[in-house]
Amino acid sequence: MRTVVTGGAGFVGSHLCERLLRSGDRVVCVDNLVTGSRDNLEAFDGHPAFEFVEADVTEGVPVRGPVDRVLHLACPASPRHYLGMPTRTLLTGSLGTQHALELAMRHGARFLLASTSEVYGDPLVHPQPETYWGNVNPIGPRSVYDEAKRYAEAWTSACRREFGADTVIARIFNTYGPRMRADDGRMIPAFVGQALAGEPLTVHGDGTQTRSVCYVDDTVRGLIALAGSDLAGPVNIGNPQELPVRQLAGEILELTGSTARLTYVEAAEDDPRRRCPDIEVARTRLGWRPLVGLREGLARTVDWFAARTAPALAD
Ligand code: NAD
Ligand code: UDP
Repeated sequence: MRTVVTGGAGFVGSHLCERLLRSGDRVVCVDNLVTGSRDNLEAFDGHPAFEFVEADVTEGVPVRGPVDRVLHLACPASPRHYLGMPTRTLLTGSLGTQHALELAMRHGARFLLASTSEVYGDPLVHPQPETYWGNVNPIGPRSVYDEAKRYAEAWTSACRREFGADTVIARIFNTYGPRMRADDGRMIPAFVGQALAGEPLTVHGDGTQTRSVCYVDDTVRGLIALAGSDLAGPVNIGNPQELPVRQLAGEILELTGSTARLTYVEAAEDDPRRRCPDIEVARTRLGWRPLVGLREGLARTVDWFAARTAPALAD
């Protein structure tokens, strides 16, 4: 099996490449490193079954040779990143997805789109099942990400209907773990970095907004199961344990033994108030469910960040 992973040098993509290599796949990672890094590939960069192609998917996906699967993850994913490159994010979600799906169709390969819970916007239905159409502000700052993913879902569905493309849509909910960028502004790396540095944890708004966070190994296992299934999706991949953001911050303080406090800063515009996946489809059709509990996942994440920040703190 030769699998192309776009966005493979990113947080989720690098774990996906690693697990695919371990299962015996040949893996081609296509990435322009805009938010990802070659450091994420360190564990397997010299592996004989691994190739890295530096390319921007908005210009094409230049992969030669056989292709059995295309797992399309390339896209800035952290609000800090996509708000900083709005038009580029829209182009990556639209044109980039068209190019990745074209590659899959040329080879008759299975295509997986890494979509997001953000297609539900600030949801009015709770928890969110795949049948919910969402509540997205189409002109708000977050729309560059949300609408690009909604377009990508529409494009994927149209190619399946019109050309018989073999596709599946995964709607990934907040995922965390080692290899997140310390500076990407997302909640867990921000809180862990702040706690380890003994700085106040910056809670947006009053911190009563909720998220349901899934450890990266669970998410990756779900994506691989979906790629290997004959489902078309969309299928939610996430952990339904829902917590207010300020409680998550508290958990991180406890785990790190930090004496830092919480500081409440301005709420982010259009920040979804609640988010929790309904994972009945993944459970029943895929036999998938998350296995790593919050405490364990956070502990592994804290250890990883601590190992990287310790030398700097010692200086
Ligand atoms: P990430 O930013 O770490 O990874 C994205 C990768 O895509 C990076 O390596 C980046 O360099 C690459 N990339 C971006 N634009 C590109 C382009 N035009 N051409 C080639 N490469 C490009 O983010 P992540 O958290 O690993 O997210 C991966 C995917 O999963 C994204 O599609 C994201 O929308 C989706 N997702 C992630 C989460 C999450 O919580 N991590 C939740 C929902 C959906
Ligand atoms: N958040 C926060 N402080 C931070 C970063 C994020 O309170 O330093 C909040 C953010 O406003 C949101 C939640 O944490 O309510 C999750 O944010 P993240 O950027 O991780 O993901 P997303 O908003 O895409 O779900």
